[in-house]
Amino acid sequence: MLYPPQRLADARRATAAAGLGALLVTPGADLRYLTGYHAHALERLTCLVLPADGEPTLIVPTLERPAAEASPAPATGVRIVDHADGTDPYPLVVAALGGVPGAVGLGNRMWAEQVLALRDVLPGAVQRLAGDVVGGLRIRKSPAEIEALARAGAAIDAVHQRMGEWLRAGRTEASVAADIAQGIREAGHATVDFTIVASGPNGASPHHGTSDRVIGAGEPVVVDIGGTMPDGYCSDSTRTYVVGEPDAEFRTAYATLHAAQRAAVAAVRPGVTAESVDAAARDVLTAAGLGAYFLHRTGHGIGLDGHEAPYIVTGNALPLEPGMTFSIEPGFYIAGRWGARIEDIVACTGDGVRRLNTIDTDLVIL
Ligand code: ZN
Ligand code: ZN
Repeated sequence: MLYPPQRLADARRATAAAGLGALLVTPGADLRYLTGYHAHALERLTCLVLPADGEPTLIVPTLERPAAEASPAPATGVRIVDHADGTDPYPLVVAALGGVPGAVGLGNRMWAEQVLALRDVLPGAVQRLAGDVVGGLRIRKSPAEIEALARAGAAIDAVHQRMGEWLRAGRTEASVAADIAQGIREAGHATVDFTIVASGPNGASPHHGTSDRVIGAGEPVVVDIGGTMPDGYCSDSTRTYVVGEPDAEFRTAYATLHAAQRAAVAAVRPGVTAESVDAAARDVLTAAGLGAYFLHRTGHGIGLDGHEAPYIVTGNALPLEPGMTFSIEPGFYIAGRWGARIEDIVACTGDGVRRLNTIDTDLVIL
């Protein structure tokens, strides 16, 4: 079951353990994780009120009530309370809390206007981050969540395998990206979250989106794509392509990157630290003189958010545990020339690693 009801009980225990009286969670991945409710973030207040020692209440605008009732939320045991347009919803939060707690955890991405309105109606409550509580639950995926991420991975793999239909010299990055976006939807995603098509020198910018640049023969093209599946779980995968005959120097650098990516994947197992996985990739690139061109961390967690904990980065001594899912995506970026990246999502298992993207990581020559 992807959205089991016991998460609210787990969150209440974690809330109490963190010294918080309640969590207040507005639309986003935390709300979906806890209740299964995929709500729109609007200026009208939607807020889960989860007291550490009381019953959960989901406060929604009246016009959203049918959607909330149709979601998995009622089956998790939340009571739904609605507020009509023109009425102040914040006193409903205070009522649902059953008193003013000493400290509340607010959803990390709650809008500032809501944070301040809650401060006004709960003047005695210290505001902290709900993510410190919910993040600790979300970081270890259940077997059902890992299967959901594997389905997302297979869907985005299928899009990469169609790249030869779309990626050609003479086309613009933007027109190729439009075709990829259609392919992402056809592969079963509910939304297209990003389509990076970075050709030639644009590949040296890790988060280049697309442009009207015409792709030239023999140029490397970094294609980093992802979407969200109907169940809420995200995909994210990068492959580097060359349209035509690759430059020999690029081929050599790519071979090093390939070795770096495989080394980092192979380093994943329970008990090793996140930063040691980063080092496994970085050391290979550094030994080949490419370390200075690897501009970013090796990876990020993924689940209901495209980027979440754990971050695979220098300084993160968090030991990996079974159920943690994250990207392994080293790259090199050489300004004015080109770039390359290889990205797979992996899961830490009981004794090692499972790749959730299963297609080849070699340089793809189209
Ligand atoms: Zn990516
Ligand atoms: Zn990524």
